[in-house]
Amino acid sequence: MTDCPFCAIAAGTGRGSIVYEDDLSIGLMDIFPVYPGHTLVVPRDHYDNLVACPDEVAAHLFNVAAKLGPAIMEVTGGTAFNVWTANGADAGQRVFHLHLHVLPRFPDDKFGLRFPKDFPRKTDLNELEEIAARIRSVVQK
Ligand SMILES: [Zn+2]
Repeated sequence: MTDCPFCAIAAGTGRGSIVYEDDLSIGLMDIFPVYPGHTLVVPRDHYDNLVACPDEVAAHLFNVAAKLGPAIMEVTGGTAFNVWTANGADAGQRVFHLHLHVLPRFPDDKFGLRFPKDFPRKTDLNELEEIAARIRSVVQK
């Protein structure tokens, strides 16, 4: 993956503001921060997304995010943080090397997710069970 910015940073050929490193992962500042302190946790090896990532690496990334979140809050004065990852362009993924966002949050900050107009809409329990059964049949394969 010669044109992957996160692979370049992991290889030491690309520039990044690194806040954490270990054998499996790197924590670095997002170059387009939503708020100061917005950090990314990336695996050293290239995986396009969470689906492609081995379980033990994925678990490790979340453990690193749990370490970085409180440190980021302490430094920025944040009162909470989000951890999220986008899987696919329609989910907002722009760099196709798996990364977790660790985003500090502040009282009354303006960041948020957009929900459909009819949200929250209580769903019929039979409708939930129908889709649950369909997902179970696929995930258990
Ligand atoms: Zn990569």
